[in-house]
Amino acid sequence: MISFENTEIAFKSKSDKDLKRAYWLFKMVGSPSFVKFGKWATNASFKAHLPINGIVKATIFKQFCGGETINECTNTIKQLNDFGIGTILDYSVEGKTSAEDFEKTTNEIIATIEKGKNNPAIPFAVFKVTGIARFGILEKINNPENELTEAEKKEFQEVISRVDRICKKGFESNVPVFIDAEETWIQDTIDRLTVSMMVKYNQKEAIVFNTLQMYRHDRLQFLKEATNTARIGKYHYGIKLVRGAYMEKERDRAAQKGYKSPIQPDKLSCDQDYNAALTYIVDNIDTLALCAGTHNEESSQFLSKLIIDKGLQRNDKRLYFAQLLGMSDHISYNLSNNQFLVAKYVPYGPIKEVMPYLLRRADENTSVAGQTSRELNLITKEMKRRKLK
Ligand SMILES: Cc1cc2nc3c(=O)[nH]c(=O)nc-3n(C[C@H](O)[C@H](O)[C@H](O)COP(=O)(O)OP(=O)(O)OC[C@H]3O[C@@H](n4cnc5c(N)ncnc54)[C@H](O)[C@@H]3O)c2cc1C
Repeated sequence: MISFENTEIAFKSKSDKDLKRAYWLFKMVGSPSFVKFGKWATNASFKAHLPINGIVKATIFKQFCGGETINECTNTIKQLNDFGIGTILDYSVEGKTSAEDFEKTTNEIIATIEKGKNNPAIPFAVFKVTGIARFGILEKINNPENELTEAEKKEFQEVISRVDRICKKGFESNVPVFIDAEETWIQDTIDRLTVSMMVKYNQKEAIVFNTLQMYRHDRLQFLKEATNTARIGKYHYGIKLVRGAYMEKERDRAAQKGYKSPIQPDKLSCDQDYNAALTYIVDNIDTLALCAGTHNEESSQFLSKLIIDKGLQRNDKRLYFAQLLGMSDHISYNLSNNQFLVAKYVPYGPIKEVMPYLLRRADENTSVAGQTSRELNLITKEMKRRKLK
């Protein structure tokens, strides 16, 4: 069984200075009151046009992001690649609403694919449909009974064309493209769009990947049906398997609108479905391809064991693990050190624009959520090993 205990391997790419910075950062974000204050102070400073870019860039941005532009990510891409870990460039600009901005974002995603062409250091590209489409139109299309106006039909055609341009570029450049999963009330639209692209571009192998959130109680069944449909339609179905990032929002909306929550009754059911999906995918790997996007040690161990037990190659391109930059290096680096295929999401974009992403990382890492103590314990262990503490 692969062990994630080795902190020497986990932090080999980090200098003593990097390690100390990470230590202070995780120590700070471990305090909910500090994070609350930090959020308020950053928002206020940006509003007041205070020059805080420098301090943000040297601290939280440096930990969790590759740079402000694709070119600025060059160092991070190289550092990860030196340890056999791939980069997934994630243009993390959110909250845009104009067609002009959606076009800009589409072009930026296409540029990440160009960067990945013939470049083993960049095995995948990724995008969010809400980065290139208005949320409202995706929500309206989600219910097939909704009648669209002529303007809405035209708007949605433009969305399809953007998605198609990205997926076509991925196909021509041989860079598989992940489409992130989002809220349930727009996810049917995303699922349908994704499958229409798979039919076009996944004939020989998985180029377009859908994302399945296993915190939803209906996704295991969805996975089985999607596999059957793909088999009949003779295309490959790429899956990024995650637990899901919008749990509270989903529950709140369901309670507010009075429908049954789409979320599993508890964490255990979510974990069980996640691992059941891993088994199902590995058993059907002739039609499927997998990227396990998780920071969960048990699931990562479970998949690594499945790969070995089923006699599959560790470097089978249809079986990837992925984590976010700056988090769970003990999983990424130990997996890679054991010849499994691993990639990191490397978020990038102008500092001000990626702030919502960074604040979510801070939230996720407060001691309430429980991830920080794990990161902090590992960093402390490595600092002691290096006699820095
Ligand atoms: C590479 C990568 C890509 C990702 N892409 C996406 C994406 O496209 N869309 C998306 O939504 N998220 C995405 N995520 C985030 C992911 O969904 C999780 O929020 C995050 O990774 C934490 O889950 P975990 O598997 O790492 O582990 P854990 O820490 O073991 O699990 C935490 C997760 O379990 C679930 N959970 C917690 N409590 C309960 C409960 N009581 N009942 C039911 N479920 C519960 C929640 O999903 C929670 O986030 C991505 C993550 C990674 C690493």
